[in-house]
Amino acid sequence: MRPEILFPLFAPVTSLPGVGPRIAKFIARVAGGHVVDLCWHLPTGLIDRRYAPKIGEAVAGRVVTLMVTVDEHRPPPTRSGRAPYRVTCSDDTGSIQLVFFHGRGDYLKKILPQGAARVVSGTLERFGNDLQMTHPDFIATPQELAKVQIVQPVYGLTGGLSLKIMGKAIEAALARAPDLPEWQNKAFKAREGWPGWRASLLAAHRPRDLVDLEPATMARRRLAYDELLASQLAIALVRAKMRVRKGRAIKGSGDLRKLALSALPFALTGSQNKALAEIDGDMGSDKRMLRLLQGDVGSGKTVVAFLAMLSAVESGAQAVLMAPTDILARQHYETIAPLAAAVGIEVARLTGRHRGSARETQLQGLANGELALAVGTHALFQADVVFADLALAVIDEQHRFGVHQRMLLADKGKAVDMLVMTATPIPRTLMLAAYGDLDESRLTEKPPGRQPVDTRAMPLERLDEVVDAVGRAMDGGAKVFWVCPLVEESEDSDLAAVTERHATLKARYGERVGVVHGRLKGPEKDKVMDEFATGGVDLLVATTVIEVGVDIPEATVMVVEDAERFGLAQLHQLRGRIGRGDKPATCLLLYATPIGATAKARLSILRETEDGFVIAEQDLKLRGAGDVLGTKQSGLPGFRLADLAVHADLLATARDDARLIVETDPDLAGTRGEALRILLYLFERDAAILTARAG
Ligand code: ADP
Ligand code: MG
Repeated sequence: MRPEILFPLFAPVTSLPGVGPRIAKFIARVAGGHVVDLCWHLPTGLIDRRYAPKIGEAVAGRVVTLMVTVDEHRPPPTRSGRAPYRVTCSDDTGSIQLVFFHGRGDYLKKILPQGAARVVSGTLERFGNDLQMTHPDFIATPQELAKVQIVQPVYGLTGGLSLKIMGKAIEAALARAPDLPEWQNKAFKAREGWPGWRASLLAAHRPRDLVDLEPATMARRRLAYDELLASQLAIALVRAKMRVRKGRAIKGSGDLRKLALSALPFALTGSQNKALAEIDGDMGSDKRMLRLLQGDVGSGKTVVAFLAMLSAVESGAQAVLMAPTDILARQHYETIAPLAAAVGIEVARLTGRHRGSARETQLQGLANGELALAVGTHALFQADVVFADLALAVIDEQHRFGVHQRMLLADKGKAVDMLVMTATPIPRTLMLAAYGDLDESRLTEKPPGRQPVDTRAMPLERLDEVVDAVGRAMDGGAKVFWVCPLVEESEDSDLAAVTERHATLKARYGERVGVVHGRLKGPEKDKVMDEFATGGVDLLVATTVIEVGVDIPEATVMVVEDAERFGLAQLHQLRGRIGRGDKPATCLLLYATPIGATAKARLSILRETEDGFVIAEQDLKLRGAGDVLGTKQSGLPGFRLADLAVHADLLATARDDARLIVETDPDLAGTRGEALRILLYLFERDAAILTARAG
């Protein structure tokens, strides 16, 4: 249960004065739905209203705060629709006109009464000899000068939301921020010179100068550290729980593996052998394995995973491989099943699509141990899936599953070893952020005989040429992927883009064109993929559903529309769908013009290298951590206060801090522990608390 002290922060934003449902919708778009989300919405700029000159010496172009006397109201001539309403004001050094378009006289006379003294603040403009201010940001009485002559924070906004409204909402949110017990280590906090949580939050929202907006300020570093500590602590708690439950030593005889290796039409690469040895080491020891197998697309992870799974089978236990999508699960199944058959093992297959009696039979086989291997999707989590003796779980594309789902799978056996495979190379910094310190094996070599992919970027205007070239490639026997972008705001518009492109290409190339996207039902998807892999479909129009794992060695051409909208890592991932056979492959990245310098730089990185690790590091530099994996569902912690490109030092400290906390106070029962619980709730990592409790 969330601690009471945090209730005000987790109230909906509509509980704030001046925020109704309409405003709340806009706020949700840029910040979130709760008061705390507004607290985390830090300013990106400032407007300095401290400059308060006399009119005679005021510099045009600057934001000024002026003390004036209201002289004269000059409404527009009645018949002139466009002319603004003007109000002349002055001080003893000069005069200025306040300009209001569509100004309502009665209202303006009320806030600017003739003869009265007023404070006005806004951008000063000069027209010839005249000074003017169009729609002042503030109009106030002299008594309110101190409220106006301030440095006003500037916040990220969205259409329909003004800075004034946002600023007020955030002020109101900050007023709800309670004093929280200190969760930082006292000595560390003193050494860094950090203020407390609330003071830091307020300071971060009240910049006085531009330097106060930088990530290196004490206030921002403290907040960043809080966020990093919460996430590292959550990870550490979950892992501690896994460690407490001891592992078991799985030592295969090697018989099945030997058979499988001789059935493979190729020899393992050096890095495959190395990874396998590392995995064997973990599985053979009585500690719990939690290892990440990272390797570029096509580097041969599945084979490694399969050989590791055989060790479990050799020792009389079971192993399971879980993938994030049906397509992927099916593909793994198709890779693994024949190899397994070659060594005399049957593989169960469980996805959301498998129902009825076939499913029952499989469940029975897994429960009584007759089936030693299973491949599937989330369906493997379901309560009625029971294993006789699960010893190894391989999870592909882990970043799409949460830590908790991983735990669910681990709970399906005694001391289950975990191997997590990812084809999205993750920079070290992000690795640490996402997983804490995880053991890691990397496949750095590509299997021999692979051809590099010839990657080119070109403007969308050359679409017609591209369509022609694609036709020629198909006539030459090529299979072609045509990728349409995913516009995240609306699935419908994605669908529209894909459907439209499919229609135009089909008009040209007829039945050789297929389409696949997220809305297709499973069997429909399978059918199209089959036709593309082995049948009459040569050109497949697709969304990013093909991003992960789809393995069609005959595919040698890929066209990506609006490539600049994708993350680099995502493009790399997509590109990995081609060039998997021994024929040369071509990837055409079509970009919309005009294209910005950064976007262009990003695309050229892809042209220059096929090393996923290099690409991932560059992507982190160019785009920031949140976007690296390109998709919202990445499951990597989206940091709102920490910027991994600048706060990497804090991340390492947070990891050590978290480790020490878990060693000394695993139940978070001490004074600091109590405060740390509040921290976890504050950053919504409270699921980890349940874990700690369930211990
Ligand atoms: P990943 O899962 O890393 O994307 P896969 O394990 O699916 O890669 O392998 C991609 C393709 O390469 C598969 O067709 C696989 O049979 C083949 N392959 C794997 N290892 C090797 C190797 N050492 N030599 C040649 N081909 C290999
Ligand atoms: Mg694979």
